[in-house]
Amino acid sequence: MKLIFEKSVKGRRAYRLPPLDVPEQPLEELLPEEYLREELNLPEVSQLEAVRHYTNLSRLNYAVDTTMVPLGSCSMKYNPRLHEELASLPAFTSAHPLTPPEAVRPLLELAYELKELLKELGGFAEVCLQPAAGAQGELLGLLLIKAYHEERKEDRPVVLVPDTAHGTNPATASMCGYEVKVVKSDAKGELDEEDLKKKLTGKVAALMLTNPNTLGIFERKVKKVARMLHEKGALLYMDGANFNALVGRFKPGEWGVDVMHFNLHKTFSAPHGGGGPGAGPVGVSKRLVPYLPVPRIVKENGEVTLKWDEPKSVGKLLAFWGHFTVWLKALAYCLTYGKEIERVSRFAVLNARYLRRLLKGLFKDPYEGVPCMHEFVLSASNLLKYGVRAYDVAKRLLDYGFYAPTVYFPLTVKEALMIEPTETESPQTLEAFAKALASIVREAKSKPELLKEAPFTTPVARINEAEANRRPVLRWEHGGSEAREGE
Ligand SMILES: *Cc1c(COP(=O)(O)O)cnc(C)c1O
Repeated sequence: MKLIFEKSVKGRRAYRLPPLDVPEQPLEELLPEEYLREELNLPEVSQLEAVRHYTNLSRLNYAVDTTMVPLGSCSMKYNPRLHEELASLPAFTSAHPLTPPEAVRPLLELAYELKELLKELGGFAEVCLQPAAGAQGELLGLLLIKAYHEERKEDRPVVLVPDTAHGTNPATASMCGYEVKVVKSDAKGELDEEDLKKKLTGKVAALMLTNPNTLGIFERKVKKVARMLHEKGALLYMDGANFNALVGRFKPGEWGVDVMHFNLHKTFSAPHGGGGPGAGPVGVSKRLVPYLPVPRIVKENGEVTLKWDEPKSVGKLLAFWGHFTVWLKALAYCLTYGKEIERVSRFAVLNARYLRRLLKGLFKDPYEGVPCMHEFVLSASNLLKYGVRAYDVAKRLLDYGFYAPTVYFPLTVKEALMIEPTETESPQTLEAFAKALASIVREAKSKPELLKEAPFTTPVARINEAEANRRPVLRWEHGGSEAREGE
């Protein structure tokens, strides 16, 4: 597809301004000369060309609105339009971030209500809504743990992370200055208790447990693990980004979890992807409450207000209150389900189990027999003998109109395909997805060359992904067409 600059024709216009009705003034008199540009190099196209260009661009998007996005660990579910509409009411979007809290008390009350609901769903003593994303929630969680140990004057430089944890866990721990030690998983994909015992010394600050872990397997030993940690003076962090598998049926706080982040943009249906705003509220057990960020959203004498006076607080985490409209969508989502919110996790798990069943025999299932939660991990290593890799399967899926699953993650599974259908897909869609994969496996066996070249239906087929990540070319530069050659 051509860039809009490449469609430009000198002098073509998409608009006509009304005649000037004020005296014309030379530009030099209005602006200092150094700010005047000789040539602006804006694309010159007609209105129709502009409309077509952007409409066609938008149709190149893969999105939940157009197709199933089975990206494991991302919970790419459908976000009800009603919640978008509610969050965009002018009363919310026109509130200035600097408005004094007394003037926007009803907004604070909504935030308080969400906080209370998350407390209830997680079984926590308190929740902080501030973090802007899951990873920032992890950062906060570890800052709280650090503050807790510091107050006790304990030197605990190590954070334990299972090999089935999400990549952000070890990243966050080392960002906070901790030394990361990996705990192995056992044959059933759960944390290996013996290995944990070996590594759990008095130097350990916390264990960061993703649950369900990145294999989509529920860590049944949470309570026991929490007890083991607490006996050694360490704390238990739970990565709750996969809460879509648990919401309404499992309260981590009641199982000894000291701190957990929620991903509102996964479990509680705010749209995400492409770097849009999310929110990663953090729930804590009693012992971590004093360190929570300020301002706290509290109820005093029946009135919701912001409280700043907390001497042990780790401080403020984010500008202003946090991502308020994301909170609103999450609140609307919770209230829509009400007491039936457990249906979300029940159907998320049912869909994953059904799809795993439909795919039986197509790929290797490294944890066959172990029930999965909201997602599961298969291995495309059975196709290696045809020269086909997980990457090729993922690319070919695009030609079938589906977004690809997460690939090559978790690292513990060779040629991993990590599939999360979410509860919002119908059985018919899951069946169509399984059929597409069955057809791709047939292709892998009969004409593997085809898969090595796929996709055929996208503007670019195979890009250097590392390069695209590290040095993305996001700007058109006049006369810089060489820059695009390598794509
Ligand atoms: C998505 C995810 C995260 C990180 O959340 P962000 O909001 O993307 O920062 C952490 N852990 C797990 C298990 C996740 O799936």
